[in-house]
Amino acid sequence: MSEQRNPAIVIVGSGFGGLGMAIQLIRSGFHDFVVLEKGDDLGGTWHENTYPGCACDVPSHMYSFSFELNPGWTRMFAPQPEIKDYLRRTADKYAVGSHIRYGSRVERMEYDDDARRWNVTLADGTRYTPKAVVSGIGALHVPSFPDIPGLDSFKGRAFHSAEWDHSYDLTGKRIAVIGTGASAIQFVPKIAERAARLHLFQRTAPWIQPKPDQPIPKGVRRLLRTVPGAARAVRYGIYWALEARAVGFTVDPRLSGPMELLARRHLAQQIPDPELRRKVTPDYTIGCKRVLLSNDYYPALTRPNVDLITDGIAEVREHSVVTADGRELEVDCIIYGTGFKVVDALMEQQVVGRNGVKLQELWAEGAEAHHGVTLPGFPNFFMLLGPNTGLGHNSVVFMIEVQLQHILSCLRLLADRGGDAIEPRPDAVRTFNDRLHRRLRRAVWNEGGCDSWYLDANGVNRTLWPGFTFEYWKSSRRARPEDYVITR
Ligand code: NAP
Repeated sequence: MSEQRNPAIVIVGSGFGGLGMAIQLIRSGFHDFVVLEKGDDLGGTWHENTYPGCACDVPSHMYSFSFELNPGWTRMFAPQPEIKDYLRRTADKYAVGSHIRYGSRVERMEYDDDARRWNVTLADGTRYTPKAVVSGIGALHVPSFPDIPGLDSFKGRAFHSAEWDHSYDLTGKRIAVIGTGASAIQFVPKIAERAARLHLFQRTAPWIQPKPDQPIPKGVRRLLRTVPGAARAVRYGIYWALEARAVGFTVDPRLSGPMELLARRHLAQQIPDPELRRKVTPDYTIGCKRVLLSNDYYPALTRPNVDLITDGIAEVREHSVVTADGRELEVDCIIYGTGFKVVDALMEQQVVGRNGVKLQELWAEGAEAHHGVTLPGFPNFFMLLGPNTGLGHNSVVFMIEVQLQHILSCLRLLADRGGDAIEPRPDAVRTFNDRLHRRLRRAVWNEGGCDSWYLDANGVNRTLWPGFTFEYWKSSRRARPEDYVITR
């Protein structure tokens, strides 16, 4: 028997986005909301990704909430357990816990125009009927698996980096790793130490820079905690250093020359063998794909038990992987470091707006939203890290916080005008996205000579913000009343 509940707001997901929304509502004195979380704990991506070596690749003093600085980060780039712990402590501090419903997998969200409410249906049949929905599901949580003949016939252990099988001891095993992206370069050095043999399948070489990671001494942490303004000053410093990277990405790729030089030098210093060096040297402009940071990935490739294979995989058999040039490699385990299905994340939940229009129909020509947050025909529906609000150069937590302000200002507009529903005007959405895509056309992600998950099937970038993050802050933190229709 299904139950029905009607809080004013449903937040989907308890990662940085969902928790941030919950905290901002609580800080505004609003408590009539629930957070629906499909997992058994909070943290979103930082709960799901537990692979060895999992850590942030944005400095932690910036990859955290501006309203909840953490002077206690133990490293410049905190490992996953510490980030999850930060999220838990922050949630506890603001008493978010009582609002979270774990094991609540949302299957369908449909707007009822007569009742002016959303019907949010969970996998177990429970139904919520809120006035507003905030989707904080993020873009990177539906694992992507390669389409290789014979994959299902494999009899050994196989798992994705985001679903790490900790019950399986990799010590002494022959392992195939597919993918050399942000996740793989973190876990490869860790498992290479234990593997008997590690075959690493690289399709495209990533650009990798040194990771300026180091422990933060206790004394420095004490200073950050006790000297007024110190932690904030560090955050500002990091913010502007990261922001400087956007110059090459968005203004002119030629301005990324120093970045490329740094990466080339790193490669030359860490890989003495010219043949291996050739294989891992990217053939596209730096920044076209996410620039990775690592000090231990290249050295791992030089280990005698590791081989880097660039020929591709022809097929997988019961106990082996066959390379495109015909070599059959016996393996005990395959680990997919093959990333996520980006667009499917929201599509996987069925979202239906006014007049039965599905999100898939609205996005038939490509995903877009007003400021990445709101959609015409989907009243009171708000997205966090929606289309074109991801970043290649700075912390997405910054973008989330701008979006939280945008959503709060929409809710305030609604309250001030005594309205029931708010949605963006189609012409405002058009103007915003036309400008954004004009700018993207000359950015490195389109011009840099690579293919990436930033681009959709038509080669259009639907994931990244095209400029500096302060530009997003300036344009998007407040909802402009003239951009919105409010229904009473
Ligand atoms: P990813 O960056 O998309 O990398 C996937 C890797 O798998 C790429 O090397 C890709 O090659 C390869 N691949 C995909 N499909 C393949 C196929 N069919 N055959 C062979 N190779 C294939 O995924 P990810 O490493 O999981 O990272 C995803 C995103 O998560 C990152 O971009 C980043 O935003 C985020 N992340 C962040 C952190 C952090 O520290 N903050 C850490 C990990 C991940 P191609 O390059 O040729 O496509």
